[in-house]
Amino acid sequence: MASLDASKLEIIKTTSPKTKIPNDQLVFGKTFTDHMLEIEWTAEAGWGTPKISPYHNFSMDPAAVVLHYAFELFEGMKAYKDKDGKIRTFRPDKNMVRMNKSAARIALPTFDGGEFIKLIDQFLLVDQDFVPEGDGYSLYLRPTLIGTSSTLAVGTPDRALLYLIASPVGPLYDAKFQAVSLEATDYAVRAWPGGVGDKKLGANYAPCILPSKQAKERGYDQNLWLFGEEGYITEVGTMNVFFAFQNADGTKELTTAPLDGTILEGVTRDSILQLCKERLPKEWTVTERKFTIHEVEERAQKGQLIEAFGAGTAAVVSPIKAIGWKGKDIEVPLSTGSSGEVTASVAEWIRAIQYGDEDFEGWSRVAK
Ligand SMILES: *Cc1c(COP(=O)(O)O)cnc(C)c1O
Repeated sequence: MASLDASKLEIIKTTSPKTKIPNDQLVFGKTFTDHMLEIEWTAEAGWGTPKISPYHNFSMDPAAVVLHYAFELFEGMKAYKDKDGKIRTFRPDKNMVRMNKSAARIALPTFDGGEFIKLIDQFLLVDQDFVPEGDGYSLYLRPTLIGTSSTLAVGTPDRALLYLIASPVGPLYDAKFQAVSLEATDYAVRAWPGGVGDKKLGANYAPCILPSKQAKERGYDQNLWLFGEEGYITEVGTMNVFFAFQNADGTKELTTAPLDGTILEGVTRDSILQLCKERLPKEWTVTERKFTIHEVEERAQKGQLIEAFGAGTAAVVSPIKAIGWKGKDIEVPLSTGSSGEVTASVAEWIRAIQYGDEDFEGWSRVAK
């Protein structure tokens, strides 16, 4: 059985290039580049020839298992144009590890992540004119894996398609930061122990739309997902979440929920933990621990809640200004006006690495 082999790549270029959309008109995930990357897999032959070809519709049997039993998983990554015009990705190896874990969990084939990264590089070189320039602008990459066997029998797919599409995007919010208000949600649960909330499976996302609409109807931007009778804080919307507390003895703590199987293993989360451990002043400790909405409420009342933010590829960091809980709002300080200080530092640290202004531990990869 053939393993994924980037050296077999075939490229068919478009003969009708799309007109590029100006930066100020980019809408997240609405327009796509000229090409897409596809690799078919079958149980008999393994991974087939990787192909980059003009962006196109799929033709699919209505019985394809992806359409019935949610054999689908995805990744969210970005490519950035640096000041020399080179195209960079941020820690793509982490996305590949996670993608393979998601694939294994739903009995889809795994693949050599290093080879897929080489293919992503080639794709980026073909569509490099679509990578927008400027701070906050990037090309959003959506690697996807679907089961394509035509059968209504529930079982292990014997056919799959690994593909990549890409959408030029701007900053998620127009202003520098736009702090969000959250509804602490306990009546709907995003993920649970023994479940699949730590995998990027499409099936995890559709059920979150209704609670998100309901939170919006009550005037909040996003859900703060709680778990269990204790009210453990897990994630916010589709981001990981960090809280910063002041302790009575003058020390400070930046914390986020531990990877206990209910938390998506965010690349941004991991990067923030590593950077903050190295760079925050020495009164800070950086932890991964369980904490509850009750602790947040109590410490806010004592004036010990310093700041809070969501973290994910799309926004990098998203400051939180308020949390609705039991009919009241817990106010979260925004010490710089639009965010907390750690939030602002982290945003700049990560930006500098993503756009290649700074080298850190080889986190930024140049496509070549
Ligand atoms: C993708 C995602 C994140 C963030 O992961 P990054 O790798 O940092 O983009 C966090 N939570 C959920 C539920 C996600 O789907």
